Order: sequence, then C-alpha cells, then structure tokens
Amino acid sequence: NQKRTEKSRVGIFDESLREQLMRELRLRDHLENAIHRHELFLVFQPIIATNTGRIEAVEALLRWQLDGEMIPPDEFIAVAEQYGFIRSIGLWVLGEACLAGKRMQKHNPELGVSVNVSIQQLLDDDFPDEVAATLKRTGFPAHSLDLEITESLFAHDKKRLIENIRRLKQTGIQVSIDDFGTGYSSLSVMQEFDVDYVKIDRSFIWSMDTGGRAIVEAVSQIAASFNYKVVAEGVETEEQRRLLTNMGVEYLQGYLFLPPTPEDELIPHLL
Ligand code: C2E
Ligand code: MG
Ligand code: MG
Ligand code: MG
Repeated sequence: NQKRTEKSRVGIFDESLREQLMRELRLRDHLENAIHRHELFLVFQPIIATNTGRIEAVEALLRWQLDGEMIPPDEFIAVAEQYGFIRSIGLWVLGEACLAGKRMQKHNPELGVSVNVSIQQLLDDDFPDEVAATLKRTGFPAHSLDLEITESLFAHDKKRLIENIRRLKQTGIQVSIDDFGTGYSSLSVMQEFDVDYVKIDRSFIWSMDTGGRAIVEAVSQIAASFNYKVVAEGVETEEQRRLLTNMGVEYLQGYLFLPPTPEDELIPHLL
C-alpha cells in the first residue's frame, strides 16, 4: 500500500509538471505574435505625491489577453525572458508608454511615466541608444521618463549594468529600483548604482501593522541619506497612508488610490 501511494504521488507530480510545460509552450507560441495580433496593451497606475495628493506619475503595466483569458504579467514576462521575446516586447512597451505619456501630458504637462525593464534589456549595450531613439521618435521628454529596474537584477554583470545605467541617465531619463528589499544586496545597491527613486516592496508596506514599520522607516531614512526619493508600493489602507505620510515617504502607489487603469479612464483623474 505504501508503495502504491508513492507511485501515484509521482504520477500526480508528473502530470502537473507536464501541464505546466504545455501551458508554457502554448504561451510561448502565442506570445511570439502577440504584438502583431494586438493582444498586448498597457494600463497605467498612478504614483501620488504624498503632500499634495496629486498624481505625479503613472507606471505603465503590460497586459495580455489571450483567447479571452488575462495572463498575469508575472507569468508571461518570465516566458518572454526565457524564450528571447523580452527585448522586442520591452521596446514596444517603451514606445507605447511614451506615446501614451505624450497624450496624457496634454492634461498634465508635468506627468511622469514609469516603465518596467527586464535584465536582458538592461544588459543589452544597444538599449541606451534605443531609449534615446524612442524618445526622439515619440517626442516624449526624457526627464519625464523613469525606468524601473527590479532589485534582483543587480546580481548580474555589475560593471555592464553600471555602465548602461550611466549611459541611460545621460539621455536625461530617471531610474528607479523596483521591489526594493526583496533582493539580497539592498544596501550595497543603493550605494553602487546611481538611481533617482527607491520603490519599497509592497510586502514591507503590508507588514507595517505587524512589526514591519521599523524596516520601512529605516529604508526610507537610508534612501534619503543617499538623496533618493522614496515610493511606497501596494498602499491599500488609510492606516498605511497615515503611517507613511508621518514617516515622510514622498510618493505612494496602490489600490487605495487607483488600480492599474486604461488611459482613457485615467484622463479625468489627471486634471
Ligand atoms: P511591479 O513593477 O512591482 O508592479 C506592481 C504590481 O503590483 C502590479 O502588478 C500592480 O498591479 C500591483 N499592485 C499595485 N498596487 C497594488 C495594491 O495596492 N495591492 C496589490 N495587491 N497589488 C498592487 P502587475 O500589473 O500584475 O505586474 C506584476 C509585475 O510584472 C510588475 O511588478 C513588473 O515586475 C512586471 N511587469 C508588468 N509590466 C511589465 C513590463 O512592461 N515589462 C516588464 N519587464 N515587466 C513588467
Ligand atoms: Mg514596477
Ligand atoms: Mg514593484
Ligand atoms: Mg516587479
């Protein structure tokens, strides 16, 4: 009997692994043509200035609808990275975000736009030139663009990252560290990389009422000492807003304000 249980457990494991692989391959096959099939689109989530309550910037977040099903970005971005589509998709996202930013700036001329970038884009020595070319093509001002780099990226080829970030910043854009605190190298990252914003990961914001307050406070003080502006991600409650405001965190983002929103629905909020 013991043996039978073992065997069926292995069977179940194989089955779910197989299903997972089939799904991955299906996503890969569709993702390759998703841009041309107009299955990809952007939504925008506001970043709020704590002291004025106004929308300072919007973060572009990619969405994929495949045969009526919304595929979560955490899933399809990983597929795009694994199968080599992320550079072309990332460049498309950047162009669309700049065009949308240009339209939205008609309603709020100082509005910033943040775009998430993947490690493979940042390790590509052509990327800084592609960013410059996209800004030129779309007419979106460099100082209004912010590229968000996930902290775990910094485990990679450090010299190349530092050099490419330096070249990116020469174009006049801003750079953020995203999901700050989730990687292993947090503090040295702040010291070694020349960035403008540090986005404290939402897991820390959510732990504020169960002891995480000291962490958020310490991170924002250290960031301030390096002259980085701090953004709190995933703000969902008034209590979190109150605590973060009292700590002097300059920018807030989360469902408390607005979820990721289509461009046309965002316009009334920009006025
Ligand atoms: P991220 O850049 O850290 O984006 C924040 C994520 O948190 C978004 O999930 C957003 O919808 C979600 N979020 C914002 N506020 C709240 C809140 O108050 N509560 C909760 N529960 N969630 C909140 P989303 O859109 O599913 O994106 C997931 C991740 O996928 C992003 O994390 C980013 O790493 C990646 N991603 C999205 N779009 C792109 C893209 O165009 N390029 C690349 N390379 N990555 C992208
Ligand atoms: Mg982000
Ligand atoms: Mg984040
Ligand atoms: Mg992320």
